[in-house]
Amino acid sequence: MIIKSNPEEFQDYLSDAANFKGECQKVFFPESNEDILLIVHEANEKSIPIAIAGNRTGLTGSSVPLSGYVIATNNLNKIIEINKENKFAIVEPGVLLSEFQAKIKEAGLFYPPDPTETNCFMGGTIATNASGAKSFKFGPTRNFVEMLEVILATGEILTLIRGENKVQNGMLNLITDSGTAIELEIPSIKSPKTKNAAGYYLTQHLDAIDLFIGSEGTLGLITKIKLRLIDPPQNIFSTVLFFEDELKALQFVKSARGKSKDQNQLLDALGLEFFDKRALNFLSKAYPNIPTSANSAVWIEQSYTDDSAEDVFGSWIELADKFDADIDNSWSAMTDSERAKFVDFRHAISWKINEYITQKGLHKVGTDTAVPEDQFEIFYHFAQKIVTQNKLEFVTYGHFGDCHIHLNMLPKNSEELKTAKKLYGVICRKAVELGGTISAEHGIGKLKRDYFMEMYGEDVIRQMAKLKRALDPNGILSPGNIFDEKYLVNNA
Ligand SMILES: Cc1cc2nc3c(=O)[nH]c(=O)nc-3n(C[C@H](O)[C@H](O)[C@H](O)COP(=O)(O)OP(=O)(O)OC[C@H]3O[C@@H](n4cnc5c(N)ncnc54)[C@H](O)[C@@H]3O)c2cc1C
Repeated sequence: MIIKSNPEEFQDYLSDAANFKGECQKVFFPESNEDILLIVHEANEKSIPIAIAGNRTGLTGSSVPLSGYVIATNNLNKIIEINKENKFAIVEPGVLLSEFQAKIKEAGLFYPPDPTETNCFMGGTIATNASGAKSFKFGPTRNFVEMLEVILATGEILTLIRGENKVQNGMLNLITDSGTAIELEIPSIKSPKTKNAAGYYLTQHLDAIDLFIGSEGTLGLITKIKLRLIDPPQNIFSTVLFFEDELKALQFVKSARGKSKDQNQLLDALGLEFFDKRALNFLSKAYPNIPTSANSAVWIEQSYTDDSAEDVFGSWIELADKFDADIDNSWSAMTDSERAKFVDFRHAISWKINEYITQKGLHKVGTDTAVPEDQFEIFYHFAQKIVTQNKLEFVTYGHFGDCHIHLNMLPKNSEELKTAKKLYGVICRKAVELGGTISAEHGIGKLKRDYFMEMYGEDVIRQMAKLKRALDPNGILSPGNIFDEKYLVNNA
């Protein structure tokens, strides 16, 4: 196993895509469970903190160490099995999502979770329960995870198989591979009825595997993953529709969302992604073919069969026409290579914003909020209005099918940064007040703990932290993520 102890050699592991910075003593690159167990046993005995790093594309500081060790999963990168007949794959956590998607496609199968950033590791996508455009139809990563092997902070190994172990009467009984019983009291908490990545997934009939999915490296190190695959759609068509009138674009999204959820309708979007005028302006240099009259855009994908093609296209054109989309200047793609350009277009807005702020030495302050459908327009206008009133530059885009907004403020100096942070809190509070979440896909990490506290209240945070303490009594795994340290001491 490679071990790096010279800081010059491990600078990359001291920050993530949010440019959150940390420090550590050593970075380990294990190649097997045995390697990991050596590190974990030592760390647990000496109470040395461990941060777990995927490919560090996270946007919350969650893979960044504050001290101690980093376990980097890069060399745990085998695709162990792709089973075409029974439609599943088994992988190690350090496999790149883009590589996995390509191999699955080669095998004639389909893995729907498609976070915009595909340069991430499979372990990272499980630990954050990543979601993407197609989560509108297929749900987040969680929906495709069938089995996890997890190394706990104590050095015990857990094998979790979906459907085999569920909460009963508020209790979850885990048995490790070596036979140790762990009893967990699972609180039933009221979570928003939206896409949600804030804190542990706790439900009355929780499946044990779901506690670990989205737990941001705080409960264990994921070492093996079995994923459900599906048959690929026969064909997918993709279109980026431009609108001169933003309100009509939003009404279009609302109507398309409703029709896609209605089984009796032909429209069945895989994803509904939105870009506001500022996002289009931001992209116009790289994409000069964005119509100059466009004030917003919606990217849609839908699968179809040869038989349904004409009716499906006709229905989308009818809906686009109803809301005055600029159909003549909109973009359409029918082949994989053309579709890939729209995927790049969507990725470009997230990526270019990050590049812009890094180059200018600015701080991005971006929301990851989602609210219930019936509150969405209220929320969208509220967020845009307060940022505009405060004269901050910003762009808005996001997974509007899931009522999930990324509003990125681009403060130019420390005064504006202060304002942006204040507004971020106001927007998060509004999302919670409307029954939504402060994080629909990126998680809490080290950057959103205060807002997380406001969302659930201290009592729920204490109950979640109690679960963490039961599995990681010395608090060595990913300290700083999700919980303030004060909730992890034993009498908290
Ligand atoms: C331009 C851009 C676009 C993005 N778009 C999306 C999007 O559409 N949807 C979305 O969900 N996210 C998105 N993200 C965020 C990020 O890509 C995802 O959160 C991704 O899943 C992180 O994977 P990673 O391998 O980079 O993990 P890291 O950032 O390295 O780690 C993320 C968390 O997972 C934990 N972790 C990693 N591996 C393991 C393991 N083996 N066991 C236990 N814990 C582990 C880490 O400790 C950390 O808490 C985007 C990021 C960028 C930069």
